[in-house]
Amino acid sequence: MARIAGLDTGGTLFVDHHDPEWVTRLATRRVADQEDSMSMDTTHGPVAVITGASSGIGAATARALAADGHRVALLARRVDRIQALADELGDGATAIGADVTDRDALVAAAQRVHGELGGADVLVNNAGVMLLGPFGPEQRADYRQMIEVNLLGAITTTEVFLDQLRANGGGDLINISSIAGRTARPTNGVYAATKWGINGWSESLRQELQPDVRVTVIEPGAVGTELTDHITHAATKEATEQFVKDLAIHPEDIADVIAFAVSRPRRMTLNEILVRPTAQPG
Ligand code: NDP
Repeated sequence: MARIAGLDTGGTLFVDHHDPEWVTRLATRRVADQEDSMSMDTTHGPVAVITGASSGIGAATARALAADGHRVALLARRVDRIQALADELGDGATAIGADVTDRDALVAAAQRVHGELGGADVLVNNAGVMLLGPFGPEQRADYRQMIEVNLLGAITTTEVFLDQLRANGGGDLINISSIAGRTARPTNGVYAATKWGINGWSESLRQELQPDVRVTVIEPGAVGTELTDHITHAATKEATEQFVKDLAIHPEDIADVIAFAVSRPRRMTLNEILVRPTAQPG
């Protein structure tokens, strides 16, 4: 995998990457920012902000991007989890407790990312919940939570970090959708609505933000994570857990795809990537 080693303290680029043009643009920004902010750290690579970094796909993505030379800002509510991951990843990893339904917390997180790391080059909107079950009033709290976290949470996180992504002239926005963003089944209607929403919003942003920000939608099929733990409808939870257990791929499989997309030359974008387990029929 390509590596972006970053800048030394004298502003000299040391890289191993197949897109020198992009790295040069990052370097230019870093040096300019250093002149603006004494707290800017120019000793490491580009900065990736990952929501939902406390488990599953988010944690695996943090590890993959850190291995590729990114500094990573880990956002989630379970601060003990993200702090342990930051400790594991070492210098360049920062844990920031934030609920994506709380705009003030996201604004505070963005201020920390700017102040401590110089700003976000990559934003991975990954935080999500999948509260499946038969449609009806018993699950209305689940519906609100899915819309507020999966859809409004991603939208709010993006508008809060947008200036940072644009300031670089070379930002990446990675939105974690789902196969449920392309298909719908009984019991997943509101979850699918949030992911279809992510897809429509992402396509609009792709057109609006190019060429400064590349927009990539990732649509995983079944991945073995904690996602099914929170399903409140008992029979649906049991059936979904069995379905996932039988064929799920690993969070690292999705993280590798994200790292690959981010490392492409700036002249191209992987706009939409559907990743099913080989054995998943639909
Ligand atoms: P996990 O349950 O392991 O991870 C979900 C993450 O979202 C956790 O880190 C959790 O952190 C975070 N999160 C939930 N609510 C909030 C909130 N209000 N504020 C901030 N963070 C929150 O599941 P996955 O890794 O599987 O899910 C990641 C993404 O992948 C989701 O968007 C999901 O829809 C999507 N996806 C997953 C698939 C799968 O089969 N696993 C398939 C298709 C898509 P914390 O609780 O600490 O706040």
